[in-house]
Amino acid sequence: MSDIEIARAANKKPIQEVGAKLDIPNEHLLPFGHDKAKVSEEFIRSLSEKKNGHLVLVTAINPTPAGEGKTTTTVGLGDGLNAIGKKAAICIREASLGPCFGMKGGAAGGGYAQVVPMEEMNLHFTGDFHAITSAHNLLAAMLDNHIYWGNELDIDIRRVVYRRVMDMNDRALRQIVCNLGGVANGFPREAGFDITVASEVMAILCLATDLADLERRLGDIIVAYRRDRTPVYARDIKADGAMTVLLQQAMQPNLVQTLENNPAFVHGGPFANIAHGCNSVVATTTALKLADYVVTEAGFGADLGAEKFMNIKCRKAGLKPEAVVIVATVRAMKMNGGVDKADLGEENVSAVEKGCPNLGRHIENLKQFGVPSVVAINHFVTDTDAEVQAVKDFVASQGAEAILCKHWADGSKGTTELANKVVEIVEGGTANYTPLYPDEMPLFEKMETIAKRIYRADEVLADSKIRKQLRDWEDQGYGHLPVCMAKTQYSFTTDPNRRGAPTGHSLPIREVRLSAGAGFVVAVCGEIMTMPGLPRVPSAEAICINDDGLIDGLF
Ligand code: ADP
Ligand code: MG
Repeated sequence: MSDIEIARAANKKPIQEVGAKLDIPNEHLLPFGHDKAKVSEEFIRSLSEKKNGHLVLVTAINPTPAGEGKTTTTVGLGDGLNAIGKKAAICIREASLGPCFGMKGGAAGGGYAQVVPMEEMNLHFTGDFHAITSAHNLLAAMLDNHIYWGNELDIDIRRVVYRRVMDMNDRALRQIVCNLGGVANGFPREAGFDITVASEVMAILCLATDLADLERRLGDIIVAYRRDRTPVYARDIKADGAMTVLLQQAMQPNLVQTLENNPAFVHGGPFANIAHGCNSVVATTTALKLADYVVTEAGFGADLGAEKFMNIKCRKAGLKPEAVVIVATVRAMKMNGGVDKADLGEENVSAVEKGCPNLGRHIENLKQFGVPSVVAINHFVTDTDAEVQAVKDFVASQGAEAILCKHWADGSKGTTELANKVVEIVEGGTANYTPLYPDEMPLFEKMETIAKRIYRADEVLADSKIRKQLRDWEDQGYGHLPVCMAKTQYSFTTDPNRRGAPTGHSLPIREVRLSAGAGFVVAVCGEIMTMPGLPRVPSAEAICINDDGLIDGLF
């Protein structure tokens, strides 16, 4: 059965019953239909004195086209913890329409480890992304309008750095010229669109702790520079208040359920390259007040996702993760060991062994954050026993443990062992979360620290212009910010084709950007796409409403 067929057959409970599992009173659930609700801001505020549950991160090896299944495993582990009697909730990101109509692959998990309603989650859901798009573009409109009406702030229109966004893969809009058409339409300038998940407003919504913090951060967005190079902020354009109004409802986390009727918060969805790639701080902190165990996911492999989760999200939100689950698959080990995607169906133990060092490095890396980890082997039906054993043996040789998980086929029954292990780790109390670098470390050194200790690069290459830019930001008071690495997810290096665990490479930094509202400095290493395009055959071509009035083709 396809994911959508399984999801459609789900025995969904009314959302009030799901909320009751977390003791959320009905009047604080703001329902969107019968199976989705936002949790009220007032209720969230009332929780502040409650003690936190345990936070568990799900991350993975470097992704391969074979697919690793982080979301699927997050859902499977959440259901597994509930099945062994723990009060557990999961926290994942919302879906972007762009990839949904581009490449096949939903954002709600897969098989018997899914969040429902998956159609809505992959489409308009509760409208958060539309609100973010509107808030973002309101500022863009007010900025051009300010210039049109006389440009009192003396903005250098060649140095407008704020682009527009939409939630669609549309390469035609990457670079545009706007304000064409003569005097009545303003001053022509180059501009462009990013996809909504790449918007700084998205990153801000996901890091803000409450509405006041949201408004302050929105005001801090740098939109342009003057001729003297001083920054112009969203606050100067007087857009921050209205943007906050547009985002008021979107700030409240969404509650839905898994196929096994367990609570799932699905909220926010920043890119994992130029942003930090985790669900919202509000959702995670709310879940921690309501559940004993909260399982959450970070985008991409652990070199990017887990690093940013630890160094950006946890540091800034004061979160203390107590266990990490590293998802690996036999197929991905084989691809790391040099096998082509087309040949993944054949048993190949030596390729599995050859690919394992990629996993080994992630295990080693995560130790540096002081949080104990366990490997989850996400089982595919084509995996052979000998291949699975090869992964287990390798992980054991690294002083860690790998557990075979069959949640995709069996739901919570497939993750009982993993769930018990996670509980054992948490109850063992050995976690001692520490970020990789202190706030006070200079920005360039922070980048070097990540490059050397996580990517195992020998050096960071950056020309003097970039180093000077970083020093200028330090002088302006931004030196305490964490850094957000924008690098390919496919490799520890900046070359997507170098799989495994390479050494001896250098990390070239091409460009640095200041996301002053989100609160990080982005280091762009290699080509980073902030407006994807559609593939030759977009999955949209196969999406339709069938004769029964149901959606077909959404995976
Ligand atoms: P990630 O979160 O790492 O991007 P997902 O959990 O979204 O990955 O899974 C990606 C795709 O792979 C989904 O379509 C899912 O149905 C599929 N998938 C995940 N695990 C399995 C599995 N064990 N067997 C078959 N397909 C799987
Ligand atoms: Mg995912």
